Amino acid sequence: MFIVPLWYAVSLFFVLGACVGSFYNVVIYRMPRGLSLIKPASFCPTCNKHIPIYHNLPILAWLFLRGKSACCGNRISIQYPLVELLCALLGALSVILAEWPLSFEAPWTQITNSFALFWLLLAIVPVCAVDFKHHLIPDSISIGGVVVGLLLSLIPGGISPVESLVGVLIAGVGLYGLGLLMTFLLKKEAMGFGDVKLLAGYGAFMGWFYAFEVLIFAAFLGLLVMLPLKFFKKIKGSEAENTSFGEIPFGPFLSIMAPIVYLWGDKILKVYLSFVY
Ligand SMILES: [Zn+2]
Repeated sequence: MFIVPLWYAVSLFFVLGACVGSFYNVVIYRMPRGLSLIKPASFCPTCNKHIPIYHNLPILAWLFLRGKSACCGNRISIQYPLVELLCALLGALSVILAEWPLSFEAPWTQITNSFALFWLLLAIVPVCAVDFKHHLIPDSISIGGVVVGLLLSLIPGGISPVESLVGVLIAGVGLYGLGLLMTFLLKKEAMGFGDVKLLAGYGAFMGWFYAFEVLIFAAFLGLLVMLPLKFFKKIKGSEAENTSFGEIPFGPFLSIMAPIVYLWGDKILKVYLSFVY
């Protein structure tokens, strides 16, 4: 058991989130350009000069430099600090949602939940950014989720390693089967393999049952958002006729539902069942 006050845990996860956001900025810039994520170290996109670490601190550096690079005075997009701030806030939120106690000992459950929520909340950002644009989910998020979920199951307080492993297998195989069936029915590739790997990762975090709850409610959310969009497009008479359901990226909806189901899966199910019966 550790004695970790709430304010300390929140600050720590805020900083961790900002660092993840800083990494996302690198990914957002380099991935579409086919550049390596690791080498070279940070450089100025205008004059190619190396950026020292103190000019690269998340959020702070942008404020300190007043949005202009130190090397050549080029404007730095506000997208950088905004992504970092968003990730920092999501990081802090993961501790708050995990109900970390105010000052006394943080039990294992809160520690496990904080790290799980940290991963699930921060995964939303790249899944939405990349899937809507490029129709793919980065393996580092989907397969990374499987690895992180399995590792977290080793910490007491959450699901057991066996439940986690079974979750990966059933969620992965189940969605893969569903994808094959839909491909057969729609005669068109209906589900990307990225979605399968992403859901397998959620199985690692919360077991097969809740992973399927994520799937079902993500489908609901998807319909809720996409049907009006399709309708609206039809009125405008654009190329909507050619848009099939297979082309709607499903990953963002999965990634949004995952932390919600992780936190309130039981409650949502009860409300849903009370409507059905
Ligand atoms: Zn420069």
